Amino acid sequence: MAPKAKTAPRRHGEAATAAAAAPPPAYFDAARWGRIAGDVWSGTWLGREALAQRARRRLCALLRFARAQVPLYRRLHRGLPPPSALELADLPVLDKSQLMADLPGSLAADGLGRAALETFLADPARIGTPLAGHYAVWTSSGSTGVPGVFVHDGDALAVYDALELLRFRGLSMGLVPTGPFLSSERYAMVAAIEGHFAGVATVERLRRAFPPLAPWLRAFSVLQPLPALVAQLNQYRPTLLAAYPTVAELLADEQAAGRLRLSLDELWCGGESIGPATRQRMARLFGCRVREAYGASEFLSIAWPCRYDRLHVNCDWVLLEGVDAQGRAVPPGVASHTTLLTNLANRAQPLIRYDLGDSVTVLPQPCPCGSQMPAIEVQGRSDDVLSLAGRHGQAIKLMPLALATVLEDEALVNDFQLLQTGRRHLTLRLGRPERARAEAACAALQAYLQRLDLAGVRIDVDRATPGREAGSGKLRRVINAMRTPDGG
Ligand SMILES: [Zn+2]
Repeated sequence: MAPKAKTAPRRHGEAATAAAAAPPPAYFDAARWGRIAGDVWSGTWLGREALAQRARRRLCALLRFARAQVPLYRRLHRGLPPPSALELADLPVLDKSQLMADLPGSLAADGLGRAALETFLADPARIGTPLAGHYAVWTSSGSTGVPGVFVHDGDALAVYDALELLRFRGLSMGLVPTGPFLSSERYAMVAAIEGHFAGVATVERLRRAFPPLAPWLRAFSVLQPLPALVAQLNQYRPTLLAAYPTVAELLADEQAAGRLRLSLDELWCGGESIGPATRQRMARLFGCRVREAYGASEFLSIAWPCRYDRLHVNCDWVLLEGVDAQGRAVPPGVASHTTLLTNLANRAQPLIRYDLGDSVTVLPQPCPCGSQMPAIEVQGRSDDVLSLAGRHGQAIKLMPLALATVLEDEALVNDFQLLQTGRRHLTLRLGRPERARAEAACAALQAYLQRLDLAGVRIDVDRATPGREAGSGKLRRVINAMRTPDGG
């Protein structure tokens, strides 16, 4: 991979300055990976003050870089004092619609325009491969109504890998990692795998980077009919299973019914919060430990669960600020309205005080595990599993993740609410869509239902605006309205 010339003209016609960035870090570089892993491991044992100093140093360097190299921040931070003279809270907040409106301007990556990103994202054969030899590009769902595109460099990927391997896997077990990277554990991720989503792109990246490990790392599609998924998992026999909680719950039902026959060491749940009752039930049905993960397309490994099952923020590499609806910091013990994320690991597309949309509570008490990293609870969005009647009246369960993926990826609809209003009846709320968009959404849903042998289900389009949750403003997108008559 030839590094790009430092003096190449930049987008928007700007000439590179003397402060031009060094060539971007390699997509994978073993020596760099080793150095970063050492940093992550040493950071794990630091006290609160030393962690804050390490983060502060990284923040100042990030701010200097972003102001010099990234047009979006040159504009947003114009006139502000130098990094050493300000606090994070002095900086403006960035939200997803702002970021997406100026996607090329948010990048420090030379030569990456919107067209290059769109071409890359449109090609499923490139999932997990680097763009322009250097960058990982992930899309996120549009749970806030806008899909996101996130570009990460090789250093950031190395940080995410080290955090996953050393903190998520290693620490919780109180010993060095014995995960899928180093032993014969078989890892299965059940997720939406048909697009450039962070989860599947990471599995595919690792399979390509470490070919001998490929048989021990696999991603399975949540879009296929449940019996097919169960058959594939039975054949693969994973010992580690990662899934959205709603997907894991359905699989736990299959395990209880004897159709799924897994012998798991651990079940990892992420993407939505899980309550204690659900966690206990899944642990009982699978006979294994259930561990929560908290990550995002904006930063893959935000927090790791310790042996007391508390999520500790990787605060030396990612800063989280819980704020109220007016943008003021909330104290520990209070659930935030939203959370601002600052990614200290990534230069390709710096995210500084980026509005993540999640509600997070910092736990006021220290954790008995001794970690000085703040422990949090995350209140994710909670969609429902739907249960429709098949041809012979049998119940066929539908995973909200699969339904959302069909609507987002196949019909390009992001702002929607899908309600189950009868045993063979769905209502799709799209606001006031143009006719072609409503037809595309219904056609995509009908095609998916047919694949599940649910051809007799009626879908009505409702012109009501998708209703957001009071307080959080969050959009619950898949709702069993037979259970909650007002549709949430
Ligand atoms: Zn802990």
